[in-house]
Amino acid sequence: MIVMARRRMGGFVASGGPTHRIRGVRIELLRRVPLPLLKSPGRPHRTNPAAQPHRQACFRQRIFPMDKRALKILFDTYWSKDGWRSGARCPAEADFAFAKAQGVMFDPISPTHDESIERARAAAARLTPQAVGDAFVASLSTRRLDWRSALGSYCMARRVPTHPATDGVICNVCGLYTSGEEEDLNVYNFERLKWGGVRHAYPVYAALDLELLLREPLPSPTSEDVALLRKILAAIDSAPAGTTSAMLHRKLPASLKANKAERDALIGMLGHCGALSTAAHPGHRAGFVRYVDRATPPRHFVDMPYPVSWWKRSDGIEPSSVQEFFGHLL
Ligand SMILES: [Zn+2]
Repeated sequence: MIVMARRRMGGFVASGGPTHRIRGVRIELLRRVPLPLLKSPGRPHRTNPAAQPHRQACFRQRIFPMDKRALKILFDTYWSKDGWRSGARCPAEADFAFAKAQGVMFDPISPTHDESIERARAAAARLTPQAVGDAFVASLSTRRLDWRSALGSYCMARRVPTHPATDGVICNVCGLYTSGEEEDLNVYNFERLKWGGVRHAYPVYAALDLELLLREPLPSPTSEDVALLRKILAAIDSAPAGTTSAMLHRKLPASLKANKAERDALIGMLGHCGALSTAAHPGHRAGFVRYVDRATPPRHFVDMPYPVSWWKRSDGIEPSSVQEFFGHLL
């Protein structure tokens, strides 16, 4: 995820993974329609049933169908074999309608600043640290990156306060556009499904991410997932003291099926939850960090998100964060 150049479409490089510190994007892709609020049936959280891993895997497959055609329509809109398209490709009307019916694509929205904050806070209030911890861990063997994403979004959304937008184009507190920009939820969902998300600290992304997670019964990790989590934490713990967050992807276990971009995103998530944070930059672990206070390390290239961008192995793994999100599994 090396930041090489930024372009209007979300500040992404032409190929490779996503970059960080990108704003909401405006893509003249889809027709403008009234704000569609995602419907969440509010099903109860399933907490680690004592079923056999194989049975759980079958259960997941049955209750989380991901329509391949709808995913292809979404992915083809933004991505080609060469990486990001130079401009989003507008899907055929029938394809777009199909992907929307499958809950994979959406009409654009133009929420106000206050609406976005409220949606993010409301979605987070329906979840718990254990629930998003479960979703994160359940993603490890299944490579369901959408499940993995929720941890990052939750950690910001549960902390963001209700507040008035500050003066200027971008709110200093939360980073939202203050003018109610049109938001393309499809590029957000694409990033969520491809990498486990990029913009977890952006309230519109966080709201979408958490609402989509809540739309289905919440996933439960298997013993295989928990074993992978243990291996990941042990690998981080045993890395040389000078290992930076950008170097850490090489240390993660080979049994984790993930490419470099996915590994970097996973490491970023462990930063969002505070496990890989520093005393000076604890992230949202200790309280909400304002957008303007999310400092960037003084380096030429910063290819990891705040706060893990500051982390080195010598900072250690924060035990209270591991306990809060994963303690019920370990
Ligand atoms: Zn704000």
